[in-house]
Amino acid sequence: MPTASQVLVLNCGSSSLKFAVIDPKSGVEALTGIGDGLGQSEPVMSWQVQGDKHTVSLPDKASHTTVIQFLVDEILHPRPQLLHCLVAVGHRVVHGGEKFSRSVLIDGEVTDAIRDCATLAPLHNPPALLGIEAARKAFPALAQVAVFDTAFHQSMPRHAFIYALPYNLYRDHGIRRYGMHGTSHRYVTERTAELLNLPVDGVNVISAHLGNGASITAIHNGRSVDTSMGLTPLEGLVMGTRSGDVDPGILMHLGCRFDYSLKEVNDLLNRKSGLLGISELSNDCRALEKAAGDGHQGAWLALDIFSYRLAKYIAAYHAPLKQVDALVFTGGIGENSSLIRGKVLDHLEGLGFQVDPERNLQMRSGAEGTITRADSALALVIPTNEEWVIARDAANLVPGDHQNHNGGNRE
Ligand code: ADP
Repeated sequence: MPTASQVLVLNCGSSSLKFAVIDPKSGVEALTGIGDGLGQSEPVMSWQVQGDKHTVSLPDKASHTTVIQFLVDEILHPRPQLLHCLVAVGHRVVHGGEKFSRSVLIDGEVTDAIRDCATLAPLHNPPALLGIEAARKAFPALAQVAVFDTAFHQSMPRHAFIYALPYNLYRDHGIRRYGMHGTSHRYVTERTAELLNLPVDGVNVISAHLGNGASITAIHNGRSVDTSMGLTPLEGLVMGTRSGDVDPGILMHLGCRFDYSLKEVNDLLNRKSGLLGISELSNDCRALEKAAGDGHQGAWLALDIFSYRLAKYIAAYHAPLKQVDALVFTGGIGENSSLIRGKVLDHLEGLGFQVDPERNLQMRSGAEGTITRADSALALVIPTNEEWVIARDAANLVPGDHQNHNGGNRE
């Protein structure tokens, strides 16, 4: 059990709550877990502590609040050594709009601002607010810190974040590029600087976060200068079920010619497109690689389009960077798929990338390192760790001497 200061990290999704107790210095996780299927029938909670795995069923329609109460009563209270090491709660918040360019201690003004941004992230900001409220009640003596996915991208210049639409849409309604996955892109940037022995404010990176959602960011001197996700997480790369960039004229065509409603278009672009839509088989890269190996043409096409789109973005992001110290792959696909990485690097030979096939094959299951030849432009695989960034930010914002005075609150 830990003796140093620990941070409880909470990540509230629309129907899930992931939690972890993390040492902000080392990144070691003393506890990890998830409440899943929240608000639905048969929700479950599973967690791992000291190598032991546990799973329990929660009452039907259990909420984020139920999960936090269970966490306090059934997991932390029986382990006072863990509970009394907590110095802060770090909350992942998807959207901070233009108000937040860094992590902040949560007070009433901050929760109001998170609520204001809920129109931009209707599935994510409301559950984050539930998590914040429940955690404040459960841990009244602990600092609560909000870490925003959008914050890292607030350094983008106007020419990168303003759309070529009537300017009043930005001025009056905040319609602009915000970007997502900022915490992951930031982790990758800081880790790249460490690996290359460069100061963070002197490192230039193209960071490709490739999971079910995927985004790519150009980072100049440690700061985001462009990113592929936009007002919403739909723009940019091909994703598991999201289309990424399409001709916006297609949407009008679907409406005018085939009577699609806005709801149907939304569903088509967010849930039926991407790898799933192209392959007519699966949104899952692993399943597609297997099917492609068995000769499934749709699976090949999906992987080809995914890789080509990604390569085009990487090439484009050489424009805002005077030099690229490293191209970094992260996220489930970036960390594990040597096939996708190899295909992308093959497209980028003209920019000096030469894949090292053996190194590329070795990088999976949490491995970190180079996948290009010695005489090539550098490409790395870096497993992301958003929770660690949240824990570090939260610990850094704890006022005073980091002393723990928390007993937890059973209400
Ligand atoms: P999320 O965005 O949900 O956090 P992840 O980062 O976990 O997603 O990434 C999920 C994606 O990673 C899936 O498409 C999955 O198939 C892919 N993936 C995981 N392991 C492998 C692997 N060994 N080879 C290829 N793809 C993989």
